[in-house]
Amino acid sequence: MASASRRPPVEAADPTRFFADRARVYPKAVHGPARTAKWAVLMACLALYYGLPWLRWDRGADHPSQALLLDIPHRRFYFFWIELWPQDIYYLTGALIVGAVGLFLVTSLFGRVWCGYTCPQTVWTDLFMWVERRFEGDRNERMRRDQGPLTFGKAWRKVAKHAVWLGVAFWTGGAWIMYYVDAPTLVRDFWTGTASFAVYGFIFLFTATTYVLAGWAREQVCTYMCPWPRFQASMLDEQSLIVTYQRWRGEPRGHGKRDAAGPKLGDCVDCKACIHACPTGIDIRDGVQLECINCGLCVDACNEIMEKVGHPKWLITWDTLARQSAKAAGRHDPLHFLRPRTFIYLSALLLAVTVMGVALVTRPLERISVQHDRAPLFAVVQDGSVRNGYTIKISNETLHATDFELRVSGLAQVGMILAESGATPAERIVLPVAADSIGTFRILVYGRPGALVDGSRRLDFSLRNPRTGEEAVYESVFMGPGGRPAN
Ligand code: SF4
Ligand code: SF4
Repeated sequence: MASASRRPPVEAADPTRFFADRARVYPKAVHGPARTAKWAVLMACLALYYGLPWLRWDRGADHPSQALLLDIPHRRFYFFWIELWPQDIYYLTGALIVGAVGLFLVTSLFGRVWCGYTCPQTVWTDLFMWVERRFEGDRNERMRRDQGPLTFGKAWRKVAKHAVWLGVAFWTGGAWIMYYVDAPTLVRDFWTGTASFAVYGFIFLFTATTYVLAGWAREQVCTYMCPWPRFQASMLDEQSLIVTYQRWRGEPRGHGKRDAAGPKLGDCVDCKACIHACPTGIDIRDGVQLECINCGLCVDACNEIMEKVGHPKWLITWDTLARQSAKAAGRHDPLHFLRPRTFIYLSALLLAVTVMGVALVTRPLERISVQHDRAPLFAVVQDGSVRNGYTIKISNETLHATDFELRVSGLAQVGMILAESGATPAERIVLPVAADSIGTFRILVYGRPGALVDGSRRLDFSLRNPRTGEEAVYESVFMGPGGRPAN
C-alpha cells in the first residue's frame, strides 16, 4: 500500500519531533456524477437525521407519540409499531450484526463507499465545507486569504463561518437528544429553561463534538482516529470496485504537447486537479491508500481536465485492480461480483435478516415468570392438602390493559387463589395487568399429598390473553412433605 504523498517525512521536517505538522487540506469544489451523488446522499441522510424525531406515531394517550424513541427512564425502545423492552436487547445485537455484515458485503463489492458517502463524519464534514465555501470561497481564495494578513474582510468571514458552524453543530447535537426525549417537549423545555441538567449537558457535548470533528478535525478523523480503514483491507480483494487511477493510460505523465515530435506521454497532464479536489489531500496516482475514502471527487476533477484538454474521460475511474492489470496487458476482463467472500457475506446477511425478522414477528407480547417460595417450601393445611406459594410476574407488552387468564395444570385436584383474597381455590383465576407494564401477584396453590411423587411434581402455569388468544406456559414444581425440588 503506497503512502500519502502530501505528508513530508517526519525526519525531513525535524528529526527531534515524533509527529509531522498537519498539512492543511483545502479541497477544491468539483462538479460531476460523484459530487452529485454525494449531495443527494448528504441531503437524504440529513433529512432523515433531523426529521425522524418529529415523525409522530399514535400509541394511545398514555404512551409516547414519537415514531422513533429510546426512552431510557422508562426502559423502552419505540420504533413505529414495534416496542422493545430491556429483555429484547438481543434484537439490538441482531441489528448490529446485520449492519456489520452488510457493511462487510458492500465494502468487498464497492470499497469504502460507506466512508465516502454515508459515514456521519463525511456527511457533516461535507456540510461544513459547503458553509466554508459560502463565506471564504473556493480553494485558491481560501489559501490566499489564510496566508495573508488579518483584514476586516478576512475577520468577518471567519467569524460568520464559525457562527454558522456552531449553529449547525447545535442543531445536530439537539437533534441527537431528540431521539431520547420527545422532540416537541424537548424544544419547549430547552427554551423555557426547564429541561434537565443532563439535557443541557449532552446538547453542549454533542454540539462541541460536531463542531470540532466536522469543522476542525475533518479528514484526520478518518486517517488517524477511525479504526475502520485499518481492517477494511481484509474485506477488499483484487475484484473490489474502487476508485483507481489508470496508470497504464496516464503514464508517463507530463504537461507537454502530445505530438509525434515530443516525448511520448500518457493522458495525465500532471495538473494535480485530482489532489486539489481530494478531501483527504492524497494523490490517487500513488495507488491504493489508507486515506482514500472512495468518494470519487478526484474522478470528477480529472474528467473536467480531460474534457478541457480533449482526452477521453475516466482516466481516474471506478474499477477493480484485476481489471486494471488486464487492461494494462491489453485485455478486457468482466466484473466479478459473485466471489467466495461476497457469497459468504451475502449468505450470512440473508441468514441474519431472516432470523431477526422471524424472531421479531413471532416474539410474544406477554410473558410469565414464576418463582416458588423459598421458605417455607410448602405448608400442610387443616384439611390435609398441601399449599405452595409462588410469586408470578406477567409482562404485558401490548398497549391494552388486559385481564389475563392463569391456569394451573399437571396435578390432580389442584386449585389456586390470589394470596389474601379469601376466595375458594380454582383451576383458573383472572389477573388484570395494566397496558405496557408488569403485574406482580402472589399466588397460593393447593394440592393433594397423594398426588405427589417423591415429594415434588411438575406444575404448569398457563397464561392466556383472552383478547389475542396468545398463550404462554411456565413450567414450575409443586412440593410436599419430604420432597425436594424436582430439578
Ligand atoms: S483519492 Fe479520490 S476517491 Fe480517494 S479520497 Fe481522494 S478524492 Fe476521494
Ligand atoms: S487530474 Fe487527471 S490529469 Fe490531472 S493530475 Fe490528476 S490524474 Fe493527472
